[in-house]
Amino acid sequence: MTRKVSPIIGVLDLQGDVIEHVRSLEECGAQVIRVKTASDLKKVDGLIIPGGESTTIWRLLKWYKLIKPICECSKKGMPIYGTCAGTILLERLGLMDIEVERNAYGRQLDSFEAEIKAQLNGKSSSVLGVFIRAPKIKTIGKNVELLAQFGSDKVMIRENNLLATTFHPELTDDLSIHRYFLSMIHESK
Ligand code: GLN
Repeated sequence: MTRKVSPIIGVLDLQGDVIEHVRSLEECGAQVIRVKTASDLKKVDGLIIPGGESTTIWRLLKWYKLIKPICECSKKGMPIYGTCAGTILLERLGLMDIEVERNAYGRQLDSFEAEIKAQLNGKSSSVLGVFIRAPKIKTIGKNVELLAQFGSDKVMIRENNLLATTFHPELTDDLSIHRYFLSMIHESK
């Protein structure tokens, strides 16, 4: 008899809104572990890179020797989702074919909320976008799929196993984006 093992989702636990992602994933019924080392990474079927300060997270990624292991997981097709600073890091790691501008909404507007229409598994869903000193995705490569826009800004994109939002669904009660990421993990298995 085969036992159905539910996937384990890792949240990169170096800096940023780690607890909020853990809470959202647990509310979706997922099994979650916090990832700090390469051996933690071996236990997971998907990874979230949270928002925070991309320069700090980048330094800690080097310090904890996680750059190569994360890139290897991505090349093997493991789903990875970056929120806000996580989007910047997906570019910086050379994983997503995008160009991103940090803090692109300026200082006065560092934080705002907006209703956004996202294409989630062929369905248009309304989600609340919380933007905190958010980056803008300036260009996307030909294999990058645009899943949501705010005005003319690309705010949710997917490239195969990689997902990025410049906003923070983990700071709302809406679980639809986390559910979408979980569906990517189920697809990949
Ligand atoms: N401004 C941050 C950076 O450039 C990102 C902010 C966030 O993740 N909310 O790293």
